[in-house]
Amino acid sequence: MEPEETTLGEIVLLLIKEGILTEEKVRYAMRVQSKLGDSKTLMDTLKDLKYVADDQVKNILRTNHLSLRIGDLLREFGYISAENLNAALSLQQNQKNKRLGQIIIENQFMTEAAFIDALSIQLGFPFIDLSTQDIAPEVIENIPVKWCMSHNFVPVKKIENKTLVAFADPFSKEDIGGAEKLFGHNFIIGLASPGIIEKRLEKLGSGSIKSRIVDENTAIGIVDSIIGNAIDSGASDIHIEPFEDRLQVRYRIDGILVPYKMFPTNAASMVSARIKILCKANIAEKRRHQDGRMSFDHHGNYFDLRTSFFVTVFGEKIVLRILNRIDQIITLENIGMQPKILARFKKDVLEVPSGVMIITGPTGSGKTTTLYSCVSDINNPRISIVTAEDPVEYVLQEISQCSIDAAINRTFEETLRHIVRQDPDVIVIGEIRDNYSANVAVHAALTGHKVLTSFHTEDSISGLIRLMNMDIEPFLISSTVVCVMAQRLLRRVCVHCQKEYRLSSSDLKFLGYNAKEMKKYHFKKGTGCTACNHTGYKGRMGVFEILFLNEFIKEAILLRKSSYELRRIAIETAGLVTLMEDALTKTAMGITTMEEIFRCIPRLLAPRPIHEINRLSGGL
Ligand SMILES: [Zn+2]
Repeated sequence: MEPEETTLGEIVLLLIKEGILTEEKVRYAMRVQSKLGDSKTLMDTLKDLKYVADDQVKNILRTNHLSLRIGDLLREFGYISAENLNAALSLQQNQKNKRLGQIIIENQFMTEAAFIDALSIQLGFPFIDLSTQDIAPEVIENIPVKWCMSHNFVPVKKIENKTLVAFADPFSKEDIGGAEKLFGHNFIIGLASPGIIEKRLEKLGSGSIKSRIVDENTAIGIVDSIIGNAIDSGASDIHIEPFEDRLQVRYRIDGILVPYKMFPTNAASMVSARIKILCKANIAEKRRHQDGRMSFDHHGNYFDLRTSFFVTVFGEKIVLRILNRIDQIITLENIGMQPKILARFKKDVLEVPSGVMIITGPTGSGKTTTLYSCVSDINNPRISIVTAEDPVEYVLQEISQCSIDAAINRTFEETLRHIVRQDPDVIVIGEIRDNYSANVAVHAALTGHKVLTSFHTEDSISGLIRLMNMDIEPFLISSTVVCVMAQRLLRRVCVHCQKEYRLSSSDLKFLGYNAKEMKKYHFKKGTGCTACNHTGYKGRMGVFEILFLNEFIKEAILLRKSSYELRRIAIETAGLVTLMEDALTKTAMGITTMEEIFRCIPRLLAPRPIHEINRLSGGL
């Protein structure tokens, strides 16, 4: 059985010509292949026999691809049958302006995905998904879009000094030549779907890249509008949730989720792919939870976003947290502490050179904001402040901030081990989460450092109790901890639609107050307007419970008293104003409402009368 030269494909001939294959080896492979039937191509058989390696084939193809024809390649690798290829070629006779690839796809001899796959796998050219990939403005500036259109390519971005260019047909000499006229030999050939190249060029031609008009027909447009609107509406988090019949987007504004928009279910995978590109997560991975970080340019201001992909039965739920918002940094004077409490906090806590200050509260209670306010308040050129945060949420001037990154083994533990060798005056530990970090905090304070940190407990006393349960000697706690501050954020009544109202009899009963006594206070509620999105609230404000450790409390710690005892002693001797009490005085000033108190504040003891609380805190 003597094989005829004409039955050999172009690529095999090239491999022989380059000396990679011998004619004997090819003949032997043809005999083997004839016994295997149709299931394997000659190329497969040559590879199976280890006569030729994948990389050798790719190299030959890349260096010679302009002398090859796309149809031969597809045929030789077995992607298309001889009959279908002939059919496509004869169709092309009547449609000379169309590329063979286009005809193969249009007549469904191959799907577009399989076609692009075949080219990128066999030639090793990168596939560029233009439905999710941005076009970098600098590569398209000064480029004639019409020229690109007539040659079916679009430049995408710079990779080192070369331009990555997406081609619809990398076998077209004309098209490659067209790109050479613009970039010389300084470009990398990539592949993209012909249809999408055309659409992107049309958009570029209409000049929309400069004005960046949001187009909700593309994943890029949808994601831009979701994030841009979130930033404009002051949201802290964005929830993108896939359900059976829709993709739902909600924003967390002032601590509450509010609906933004619905999208059809088919938008879900595009949106997820786009966000994964932006935060450099793995696009192919859809079955595992992932996270990442990204930077978002909003009218020239850069915002850091932390992203989380969570796999649900209907696809990935994506949550984006918007970090480093300008509004996160509030001066201590404006975080909402009552005057007497603030003065005492500054004098007894911030102005003393050493000791541990703990801020406590659940997630979203504003601990980080307060921590940053305190750090900016004590920062001055004569001291060194070093932080360990997970992650750094806002970059402060002249402070050495470290973002924990467990993925590269820069763990909390590791960072804290090194932080004390940095000769700091003040150490900020983002959060105490285990015995180790609690010990570091206490020992750093013992050696004369000032330590600011946060904790995850309901109120100030339980913060202290939790520390006592962390294997730390009570005398170490009593001699280092300066204060434990619990806090919450309550929504502010919208000033545009506020109306005065009287407390209901059930509220009065709950508080143990009488109606007559309450008449001198001005309780207010929002009725809802456009300024507050018809919620009756706009913005938030902190409420605080600060436990200053005096001698009585220190002694109670040494005696391991119960939380009930500690609370009683704190109220009787340390001037403790509870979260509930602080919130009540602010409700009586018309700043927030009873509903907010019920929603956010733990109910532990009956509050004292408002005038008595105001005497302690300096409230009006
Ligand atoms: Zn309003």
